[in-house]
Amino acid sequence: MDRETRKLLFETVAHRVIDSADELTDLDRAIGDGDHGINMRRGFEAVLATVDELSAKNLGESLKGVGTTLVMKVGGASGPLYGTLFMSLGKSLADEVTYEQTAEAFAIAIEAVKARGKSDVGQKTMLDVLFPVARVLREGGPDITARLKATANAAAEKTIPMRAIRGRASFLGERSVGHMDPGARSSALIVDAVAEFMEGLA
Ligand code: ADP
Ligand code: MG
Repeated sequence: MDRETRKLLFETVAHRVIDSADELTDLDRAIGDGDHGINMRRGFEAVLATVDELSAKNLGESLKGVGTTLVMKVGGASGPLYGTLFMSLGKSLADEVTYEQTAEAFAIAIEAVKARGKSDVGQKTMLDVLFPVARVLREGGPDITARLKATANAAAEKTIPMRAIRGRASFLGERSVGHMDPGARSSALIVDAVAEFMEGLA
């Protein structure tokens, strides 16, 4: 992936998150403190502001830079978790990468998020989207981008009937049931934006 493509990818993802900030904030208002969209917008606006610098280095270093930016700018619980995701991807993906390496890097990154969040699948968090996405990535096969998008979006929907066990929403106990998890939704948006971008390259 050359520098211009990396830059376009980061911009595409950033714009998707920024454009969805109100939706994410509404979701967080229902079962959190109503700042997820604001947090994510702040982080990805910082990515946009430094995108030339961020995409100047190779893929691994660029992803690490995005991760660091998100840790510094997003805040909340989600900032360190998304930061960990991107920094871990950056560590695994040195330069030009194969499909298999990407799938493996994503699996490792999810383990890093789990460790950081002391959380796991089934607790109504971003992991409930990231984990099934990792599984589909590992399976590979035809129409991978379409399946990644479908998986991510369906997985975010599946957090609606779940009860939150981690994060702020867990304070609500049973009352967290019936609402989509904001972090699951933002993860689905990011996966959807990346997959769509990859379709455009193919
Ligand atoms: P805060 O909860 O501090 O206000 P945000 O609103 O930005 O932070 O992010 C909330 C999202 O972060 C949740 O919807 C959930 O997906 C995710 N999250 C929170 N805690 C954890 C955790 N321990 N593990 C994984 N994801 C988490
Ligand atoms: Mg919040």
